Amino acid sequence: MSCDHTQRRWSNLRKVLERSGPFCRPDFEPSTDNLHMLLDHCRVLVVGAGGLGCELLKNLALMGFRHLHVIDMDTIELSNLNRQFLFRHKDIGFYKAETAAKFINARVPGCNVIAHNCEIQTKNEAFFQSFHMVICGLDSIVARRWINGMLLSLLTYDNGELNQSTVIPMIDGGTEGFKGNVRVILPGMSPCIECTLDLYPPQVTYPLCTIANTPRLPEHCVEYVKVIQWPKENPFDCAIDGDDPQHINWIYEKSNDRAIQFGIQGMTYRLVQGVVKNIIPAVASTNAAIAAVCATEAFKLATSCSASLTNYMVLNDLDGVYTYTYEAEKRKDCLACSQIPREIEIKDSKYKLQNLIDLLCERPDMQMKSPGLTAIIDGKNKTLYMQMVASIEERTRENLSKTLVELGLRDGSEIYVADITTPNTITLKLRFLQGENSANQ
Ligand SMILES: [Zn+2]
Repeated sequence: MSCDHTQRRWSNLRKVLERSGPFCRPDFEPSTDNLHMLLDHCRVLVVGAGGLGCELLKNLALMGFRHLHVIDMDTIELSNLNRQFLFRHKDIGFYKAETAAKFINARVPGCNVIAHNCEIQTKNEAFFQSFHMVICGLDSIVARRWINGMLLSLLTYDNGELNQSTVIPMIDGGTEGFKGNVRVILPGMSPCIECTLDLYPPQVTYPLCTIANTPRLPEHCVEYVKVIQWPKENPFDCAIDGDDPQHINWIYEKSNDRAIQFGIQGMTYRLVQGVVKNIIPAVASTNAAIAAVCATEAFKLATSCSASLTNYMVLNDLDGVYTYTYEAEKRKDCLACSQIPREIEIKDSKYKLQNLIDLLCERPDMQMKSPGLTAIIDGKNKTLYMQMVASIEERTRENLSKTLVELGLRDGSEIYVADITTPNTITLKLRFLQGENSANQ
């Protein structure tokens, strides 16, 4: 590659990186070094090689980031090809990360994308520590929360002061249909994913009684067939396979019968498929817009050439085009980024361990998945309940129906919670609202 070619290739970046301007951050110094830093040193991890991931890799590679890693455990399916544009028909069945990396490496001279075809949870701290920033293009909230927890666990403090060199920024993009958001997170400094967890709506589920007795939506009819009719009639002697057209057709016909019976309109094959496979509709242009913002923020963070997004941007293309940026706030008792144990108020002495576990899963600010609980009781470490390991689950199952008091927990007791939403242990503090507290009310 000739020097001249290189010069022209990056001439637009040089205009931004070698001149000062009114939007530059105070620590920005115009210099030819800025471009070298971007091209030769900046290491970026892209999490997810799906709709957002493909866009992100392309954007970053064309912007001059050349040390990219991408991690994704999924393989390519036919239905991905309309928007995950680094993949072709011949790639179906191959790993997304690997295929995306090959495509970029072949297409963008000088760019080196390294693929990791695995779950993020299989990577250790040293892996994440080796990057200057992490960009998430995920459709899973659990995975996002886990990355958030991992980056927070890498922080170190000197005499209570955050050591800023341990901060690895996280840029998080998310899309759902025509809506999207981008946030820039400086772990330990700005609000983290868990600080604003209650912004995520709980997963849509339909109450069984509605599905069975008073269906009003086509979705209710599909759910009925899926949850009740399929297991009863077992038409193909196997579990539902959302990719098998015969299965979807059967569900479609039965759902349609039920919709007609209840006078419900709008049943389509596509809707059935969507409900059965739990598909979030993906719109290529939303992904493109959100990935573009993420890549721009990455460039700004890497070079200091402009101030970062503070700190939460939403995009809504549903009716017209709407974007808005606001500053989310840190939650003082955030489960993930504060050092303060979250207090859980227990109003009833008959409160059972099962009630507590349900609370951890249902509260919008916690949304845990399968929490495992331990506590120190009478100076001994005791496992209260753990679902993930079958033998421990069996041994601790009887605790579920015991009250917290029976288990030896008292006002002020601390419970340590492990969950798939974070690599770290979370501390909860129990507050029993009895005796003098309730007498005051
Ligand atoms: Zn937080």
